[in-house]
Amino acid sequence: MQEKTVELPSGKTAAIVGMTGRSESILTSESLIRDGTFQSKFLLSCLKELDGEKPTEKDVEGLLGGDRIALMHAIRVLSLGKDFETRVICSNRNCRETYQVCLDLETDFETRKYEDPSGFSLTLPESGHEVKIQFLTGKDERMLFPRRKRPDLLKILFRWIVSVRKWDSEKEEFGPEYHPSIQEVGNWPTKDTQAIRQEVSKLTGGRFLTDDAMEAVACPDCGSSSGRLPVEALPSFFFPELVKEMGGEVM
Ligand SMILES: [Zn+2]
Repeated sequence: MQEKTVELPSGKTAAIVGMTGRSESILTSESLIRDGTFQSKFLLSCLKELDGEKPTEKDVEGLLGGDRIALMHAIRVLSLGKDFETRVICSNRNCRETYQVCLDLETDFETRKYEDPSGFSLTLPESGHEVKIQFLTGKDERMLFPRRKRPDLLKILFRWIVSVRKWDSEKEEFGPEYHPSIQEVGNWPTKDTQAIRQEVSKLTGGRFLTDDAMEAVACPDCGSSSGRLPVEALPSFFFPELVKEMGGEVM
């Protein structure tokens, strides 16, 4: 069986093997897809070693989102090759054109590493508070992004925050470090929450479309960029035949 060792965006090393019949059956299990666990179970079926050890499902769920995306790309390339074709629905509401995109999973994407996989600190522009931020794991993403439902932005924001130190403008120093409640975070000004979102999206590791590829996948009708194509989140990424069964809608 084909084997390969890859370095993940967090710096971890993974030894992967190509997909098997078992991996395919995980991808087609309605119940695993519905409860969102198919991704971890699938990754585990193709993961021989993680940092030199045999991983468990819990280890795979604990991997950062960017590491999981990099793994999916590596498994896809190893098992089925680097060419990926999919149909995309234009994200422009007034257009909604459906069109075909062809991507080279090696050259149309680039790996962005996590500078520090454990997270980062940020001083908020409006309140002046200092927040410690962590990146989302596979488990976090499974809980926060339920299938076919809109994600709750406040819950995502809350999950990123490890702790806060409030700026005391009278004493001119930071107060003690604590974990805020979701109610408190819900009251933070938009300028601060947007600053957190921007920084997370800038520092999150993973595989991202290159600028050239981004232009190449723009809508041929209205020119809208589709932004990030969440291709790897779908069983059809690994099982092209599924596209037809799912009615062709992949976005
Ligand atoms: Zn369009």
